[in-house]
Amino acid sequence: MSRFTRRDVLAAFLGLPAALAACRWQSPQRLPEGEIVGASDLIGHRIRDGLHITPSQDQWQRVGVVIVGGGVAGLSAARRLLKAGFDDFVLLELEQAPGGTARSGRSPLIAYPWGAHYLPAPMKENTALISLLDELGVLEGRDADGQPVVAEQFICRDPEERVFYRGRWYEGLYLRAGATADDLAEFDAFNAEVNRWVAWRDSRGRRAFAIPVATGSDDAEVIALDRVSMASWLERRGWNSPRLRWLIDYACRDDYGLTLDQASAWAGLFYFASRVTNPGAEARPLMTWPEGNGRLVSHLYEKAKSKVRLGLAACEIIPADANGDKGVDVIAVDHECQSAFGFHTNQVIFAAPHFLSRYVIRPYRENPPAHVSEFQYGAWMVANLFLKDRPRDRGFPLAWDNVLYESESLGYVVATHQLGLDRGPTVFTYYYPLCDSDPRDARSKLLAAGRDEWADVALTDLSRAHPEIRSLVERLDVMRWGHAMIRPRPGFIWSEARRVASQPYRGIHFAHTDLSGVPLFEEAFYHGTRAAEEVLEATRRR
Ligand SMILES: Cc1cc2nc3c(=O)[nH]c(=O)nc-3n(C[C@H](O)[C@H](O)[C@H](O)COP(=O)(O)OP(=O)(O)OC[C@H]3O[C@@H](n4cnc5c(N)ncnc54)[C@H](O)[C@@H]3O)c2cc1C
Repeated sequence: MSRFTRRDVLAAFLGLPAALAACRWQSPQRLPEGEIVGASDLIGHRIRDGLHITPSQDQWQRVGVVIVGGGVAGLSAARRLLKAGFDDFVLLELEQAPGGTARSGRSPLIAYPWGAHYLPAPMKENTALISLLDELGVLEGRDADGQPVVAEQFICRDPEERVFYRGRWYEGLYLRAGATADDLAEFDAFNAEVNRWVAWRDSRGRRAFAIPVATGSDDAEVIALDRVSMASWLERRGWNSPRLRWLIDYACRDDYGLTLDQASAWAGLFYFASRVTNPGAEARPLMTWPEGNGRLVSHLYEKAKSKVRLGLAACEIIPADANGDKGVDVIAVDHECQSAFGFHTNQVIFAAPHFLSRYVIRPYRENPPAHVSEFQYGAWMVANLFLKDRPRDRGFPLAWDNVLYESESLGYVVATHQLGLDRGPTVFTYYYPLCDSDPRDARSKLLAAGRDEWADVALTDLSRAHPEIRSLVERLDVMRWGHAMIRPRPGFIWSEARRVASQPYRGIHFAHTDLSGVPLFEEAFYHGTRAAEEVLEATRRR
């Protein structure tokens, strides 16, 4: 963005008024040191451009299964194979670190997230995820209804959330201060509608919104919600309270990187209804760690470590025949595209984002199937700010999640919060989803801005709530997620494309979280586990 002025950059990401105010009061800007941490888009772009490389004869090996992708889905697949006593596999991960979008980092002070940062406690029906949490030692039993009980130290500490509005912080996310009677009536009506969906069951006893998504209802009344946007759904009910719309818009941006005009009503309601056991109950408690879901990644990675090859990207997957009976060849390259390795394998678990399948799977390269282009992804910027001390606050005190009402960003989470370190140095993880209507425009903007531009955006944005932030931040690193998460736009969740993409193809079993249409740890874990079970079943039949 070198041909753009500071004002242009800030206006593009924070809006013109914020840019004008920043340029009027603060110039020139001193930025803290820092760097772009990832993700590695160069190797991805080479693969997209048709990278074709043949390993030498001595670089081929035979292995029972190849897992492509070491995010939560790939690592969960590895866990399931190992649990079944199957260890004849290798997991290829493009990056030098495991975890994908649930990756984390560590400073001398504390660990911190680079993406996913919480997991709601599962409901009792999600037995597979409960077994993982039991393994991690985060559960301490079951309550009278059989729901898993999370040990207190893993439940997000109070205060959980606060919102900054016109000069001060308020508790929670719904802005009650200044709300009119009409605002509150609409908020209550919305909650009543959410509770109606929490209570709703289809003729087979399935919830409308369940986690994993595959266990929820496909009844016509539920599917119909996916045909309209969340904004239209609200409009049809005559609900236009700015505070209610803000809350739902925030929820859609937070979980999906979409505005309420862009997200399907099914996805919007899923956010509110899927984590509530009974009408009127609180949502399931959130579990978090300083490094967010990086803690879950570390556990999964430890189990599979000896099978994981970091820094190796699958660039071509070549099924030998139409049924996948004769096996599959996988070609992988290192980061610099200098060395190539080949794997003759029986089956592949493809746990990389689905859009990549058209660049990597040879028959898809030659003849891209229509369903793949239906998978669209949003772009996100995440910054970690290393502070030597806390900013002063007006109003409600620092919480785990700190949201700015009048910002395009989602605000920040605080790494030290869960450990009860409430004074002194800390790390803020700042989240900015690029919600452009065309995700390609969002990606171009994301990558056009470098570390300094993004650092200035984050600091300018946060200085609305913390005017002294620049004097407190000693370092600021940036992650640019080009294909951060699947976009559950209207029509996608219940599309034929999503159904077709989940089917195995010539010995390749698909596992990425995007197959659920919503980007969640639980969905990645579900698909990784499911794909591994498909592989085990096919191995038994061989
Ligand atoms: C900013 C952000 C915040 C989020 N917050 C939350 C949250 O708080 N809670 C939550 O539940 N979810 C959250 N999510 C979503 C969550 O991270 C994902 O749903 C889940 O972790 C996805 O796991 P995955 O393995 O399916 O995919 P990914 O995380 O996308 O992992 C795919 C992996 O495949 C690798 N890969 C890609 N191409 C190749 C190749 N050719 N060869 C080898 N490897 C390859 C990638 O490097 C990556 O490691 C967040 C996501 C983002 C981006």
